[in-house]
Amino acid sequence: MAVNSRHPETLALHAGWRKDPTTNSVAVPIYQTTSYQFDSTEHAANLFALRELGNIYTRIMNPTNDVLEQRIAALEGGVGAISLASGQAASAFAIQNLARAGDNVVSSTDLYGGTWNLFANTLKDLGIEVRFVDPTDPQAFARATDERTRAYYAETLPNPKLVPFPIAEVAAIGRPLGIPLIMDNTAAPLLVRPFDHGAAVVVYSATKYLGGHGTTIAGLLIDGGNFDWQANPARQPLLNTPDPSYHGAVWAEAAKPLGPVAYILRARVVLLRDLGAALAPFNAHQIIQGIETLPLRMRAHSENARAVADHLARHPAVTRVIYPAHHTGVAAERAAKYLPRGQGGLVGFELAGGAAAGRAFIDALQMFYHVANIGDARSLAIHPASTTHSQLSAEDQAATGVSPGYVRLSIGLEHIDDILGDLDHALAAAGGGAHRAAAE
Ligand SMILES: *Cc1c(COP(=O)(O)O)cnc(C)c1O
Repeated sequence: MAVNSRHPETLALHAGWRKDPTTNSVAVPIYQTTSYQFDSTEHAANLFALRELGNIYTRIMNPTNDVLEQRIAALEGGVGAISLASGQAASAFAIQNLARAGDNVVSSTDLYGGTWNLFANTLKDLGIEVRFVDPTDPQAFARATDERTRAYYAETLPNPKLVPFPIAEVAAIGRPLGIPLIMDNTAAPLLVRPFDHGAAVVVYSATKYLGGHGTTIAGLLIDGGNFDWQANPARQPLLNTPDPSYHGAVWAEAAKPLGPVAYILRARVVLLRDLGAALAPFNAHQIIQGIETLPLRMRAHSENARAVADHLARHPAVTRVIYPAHHTGVAAERAAKYLPRGQGGLVGFELAGGAAAGRAFIDALQMFYHVANIGDARSLAIHPASTTHSQLSAEDQAATGVSPGYVRLSIGLEHIDDILGDLDHALAAAGGGAHRAAAE
């Protein structure tokens, strides 16, 4: 059986590594080095000219990072990956590898706040326009497209709405035009493989579920190897015109001897070289440790979160539960199509008592951590209206799906009885106890 056709549980432990060639070490060593000795001047010249692949300098590649990159590419069904200093760096690289000043990208409105700021402000200042469209209607991507559109961008399972993105539908709009779909899969690793639905590039904040232990900021950028960058060369000039920074290399051609890796090759040898957002080998090692148990953890996160959503739906202080299994209509159809393997660890709910109840709930939690993070092994909670979304107007908060009484939970791996116990205690403090007593 081809190694990369193994199951995710196996790939998470084995892909990209057997043992250290010099020491026989089974665990992946941390290659804490900046540079690598060249065998000869000819060897050095070949490496720099990409005639031969090998280690040159840790900003561009490192053997520890290489294992992480091979492992995530195998798990996603892609052909190559690069590791980056953060998820934010991965999102920025994903766009900068295709778009330059004067170009545009069409993105879903439903984004992580950091991505929103990157797109609406920082990329704009660099001359790259991001056009935001409502993902409810896939055709909105077609309507926002013009001849300078270089990519589509979205999150697989964006919070707070937690409605899966129509990956296949939007990928199918872009492909005939030569426009790849880039998916941020941070909230749904293993539950969704965006390449299976036609996405061309996957982005991760590995800081969240991939690491899983809340120790490490990291990002990953993965090439599906499933997109024909030359089908419409005028659409993708950065991969189809000579690159003056690399002796006039045309990346879609230069990559051919290495496989369908033009996108990720350019990201490595141009963007990592020039922008330098490299992941430290120690941090790559931390993410490798996390990924070893990712299949087990995603299953347990999904089971616990489903039980929490069902419990909250029965609670009198809760007016609405936001979880894929509790959606109706088109959102329910998308959940059924894209999340058959589990629906992830994020749960939202609204409290009848509005903002005051939301704050009281958070302050009463004893086990859940109150942090602006997701995907930790521990359960986490936040009240967006008073924290992550507090700079937005009431209307803008509503547009993003945040009501005054909205609470976001990232359900961890504790015993479900302890999770429900802490929630019940905090709901009582938020006014739920009175409601419940009255109701009983
Ligand atoms: C956290 C997050 C990011 C940014 O990742 P960092 O590792 O914090 O830079 C991007 N997208 C999503 C969906 C996230 O949750």
